[in-house]
Amino acid sequence: MTSVILLGPPGAGKGTQAARIAERLGIPAISTGEIFRTNMAEGTEIGLQAKAYMDRGEFVPDSVTNAMVQARLSAPDAAGGFLLDGYPRNVEQARVLASMCEDLGQSIDLVLEIEVDEDEVVARMLKRAEEQHRADDTEPVMRHRLEVYHQQTEPVAAFYADHDLLEVVDGTGSIDEVTARIFAVLDRLEGR
Ligand code: ADP
Repeated sequence: MTSVILLGPPGAGKGTQAARIAERLGIPAISTGEIFRTNMAEGTEIGLQAKAYMDRGEFVPDSVTNAMVQARLSAPDAAGGFLLDGYPRNVEQARVLASMCEDLGQSIDLVLEIEVDEDEVVARMLKRAEEQHRADDTEPVMRHRLEVYHQQTEPVAAFYADHDLLEVVDGTGSIDEVTARIFAVLDRLEGR
């Protein structure tokens, strides 16, 4: 298994689990949200384009995001596979990703959806807001991000279910418990 997509609402703990899965599989973890935040901090053109959308909890336009992902997936360290966290976030991005993979001679092998209910996710984001002071972690912006998730990203799970790639994992409990559930899925798929 080489390339994996991680899906789940904001606050589901994707970033934490992404690092662990990537380490186990020996592939880079690629987070579009992280790349945007780095670009914002460095004041690059992409950062300037993304900032207004991110601050409102809106998606950065697909043209910007897709081009950025295309460049990242073409880097040498992604040649043997990659883990995507935060992309694709709508069905159009999923379609674009499929054609990028085709061009790169890669394929998506697994889509893991981390499931956490809405109240739990809001509680976690409020806690993160206190700790990290992220500009998009205020309650109204969080609620909006969740709404956008339901509208735009949930259909991505259905898209991959249609392709028989989707595995859903319960995201409640401790970080280690969630990792254990994910690793059990990987064990099963690797035939261990
Ligand atoms: P979270 O998982 O908490 O939603 P992320 O770090 O994944 O946080 O994303 C933060 C913000 O970055 C999003 O609300 C959005 O504005 C922007 N972003 C990240 N990935 C994408 C994407 N694939 N398409 C459009 N916008 C994105």
